[in-house]
Amino acid sequence: MAQSNKVSFSMHGVGVSGGIAIGNAHLVTNALVEVVHYQIPKKALVAEIIRFEKALERVRQDLQAVREQLPANAPAELDAFINTHLMILSDKHLSEEPKAIIEQELCNAEWALKQQMQELVAQFELIEDEYLRERKQDVVQVVERIIKVLLGHPSEAVRPDESAQILVAYDVSPADAIQFKHHHFAAFITDVGGATSHTAILARSLSIPSIVALHRARDLIRDGELIIVDGNHGIVIVNPDKDTLAEYRLRQEEWELEQQKLKRLKLTKAVTLDGVEVELHANIEVPADVAKAKAVGASGIGLYRTEFLFMNRREMPDEEEQFAAYRTVAETMKGMAVTIRTLDLGADKQMNPDAARSCTNPALGLRAIRLCLSEPQIFHTQLRAILRASHYGKIKILIPMLSSLFELRQTVTHLERAKESLRAENIPFDEEIKLGGMIEIPAAAINAEAFARELDFLSIGTNDLIQYSLAIDRTDDSVSHLYKPAHPAVLKLIEMTIKAGNKLGKPVSVCGEMAGDLHFTRLLLSMGLRQFSMHPSHVLTIKRQVLQTELEAIIPLTRKIMNAYDIDKIEPLLEKLNQ
Ligand code: PEP
Ligand code: MG
Repeated sequence: MAQSNKVSFSMHGVGVSGGIAIGNAHLVTNALVEVVHYQIPKKALVAEIIRFEKALERVRQDLQAVREQLPANAPAELDAFINTHLMILSDKHLSEEPKAIIEQELCNAEWALKQQMQELVAQFELIEDEYLRERKQDVVQVVERIIKVLLGHPSEAVRPDESAQILVAYDVSPADAIQFKHHHFAAFITDVGGATSHTAILARSLSIPSIVALHRARDLIRDGELIIVDGNHGIVIVNPDKDTLAEYRLRQEEWELEQQKLKRLKLTKAVTLDGVEVELHANIEVPADVAKAKAVGASGIGLYRTEFLFMNRREMPDEEEQFAAYRTVAETMKGMAVTIRTLDLGADKQMNPDAARSCTNPALGLRAIRLCLSEPQIFHTQLRAILRASHYGKIKILIPMLSSLFELRQTVTHLERAKESLRAENIPFDEEIKLGGMIEIPAAAINAEAFARELDFLSIGTNDLIQYSLAIDRTDDSVSHLYKPAHPAVLKLIEMTIKAGNKLGKPVSVCGEMAGDLHFTRLLLSMGLRQFSMHPSHVLTIKRQVLQTELEAIIPLTRKIMNAYDIDKIEPLLEKLNQ
């Protein structure tokens, strides 16, 4: 295990799934890099095209086989990923156009396919929407599969599992990841991928430590080298020295022990040491996430991001499809609150590439409720679907991105219209359904009292609230160091909103990432927050923090924090508050 003759170094990426893994690097070859260009004689043209078609067919069979072998408990996303790849494979851009290139250029199939892929990727690059832009990776992954078959690569052989293996790849396709699951990789790290890439989504559902966006891991790490993956902090340490290794083994044991211990809190009520009860809800993106919310004992769904149902497809989901999804969530939660947020789709989160419109300032454009109000039919369909589902559970409606009372009143009019239409058809729904608004624009936070007066509840979207308060694009890597949840202005806006809700007796929750960030739990509690909604994986950690908090005792320190105007003073005080 001595690594002394090897160079030790570390790399930083984006941690997308927590935990620590220590093991040997297993490098995945990059078939694309190996493609060479050669001319084929005219008489070999037909044979070359047949070779290409056979490769397509082989990949189709492989993908179908992977889909059929999915374990019963595999996350629903996996099936969707494979379907997407099968669709890409059948698309004429990949299945037909390379043949035309072979014919025109009399070149080998691999080269034609790679040319076509580069063309498609260039088109994807022009898409503003980050989520859709990242879908270019799906195209690359499918092409890579075809090229591997053309080049005669066997599928990635995995060594016998004598020690923990860490997958190091340029990117990981979902279909490959399923096989990795069978081979029990301890972690995976990739050069590309953002927090919303398929790889990231998948990593979370596989629950293994993972880091994306390492940029050069595939080049710098050699096969078999010992590496540490700290998914909590997005750090990879290659060839660690003895002390570092010992330190991380300890941290790994502590992390695993902690996860085990946390599980025991599943059924414990979240109550502070001085008896204040707190609701810990879960955020979900698709109905299948409800299982994760229930596994950690979340007492409700505080944010159901419905836009995921609308993405990565060409047709809008109709009322029936939406109704089925919302009803499933409501029924599975068995009477616990399910907060369904209406579409937060728009300039930066489009349904598909064709819908992407060029927009000078996507985050400030026609998105969320603004889009819904300008497309009343889409909004009406969704409101009807949510209302119908409300008959089957305890559903609440949440409106994203409200900036003015005018928008709120227009929304209420639409809601009333949807209710009327259902009444006219004798379709049952919850007549008492609650309507809430996201407070995620500074104007709404400053004017929170007005919103609290007209709404049943408020939910603070700190992700956007920080983005808009500090003028930091959430999706832009180059300014991410300036994205500061502890900025005094942000803290004041959150406090104002909580106080406005409490004053008017309207429940307030936080559903942005801050709700699942341990550093802020005590501060938010001291501001009067009693409802937190977060990714299911954070629920138990936050619950433990609540259980270990005595509100009375933290008043002096939290006052100091709220009176500070300098983030450099706030951060150490926050550390102290959490000791
Ligand atoms: C937020 O902005 O904090 C939020 C919860 O919504 P989203 O992350 O979906 O924009
Ligand atoms: Mg938001």
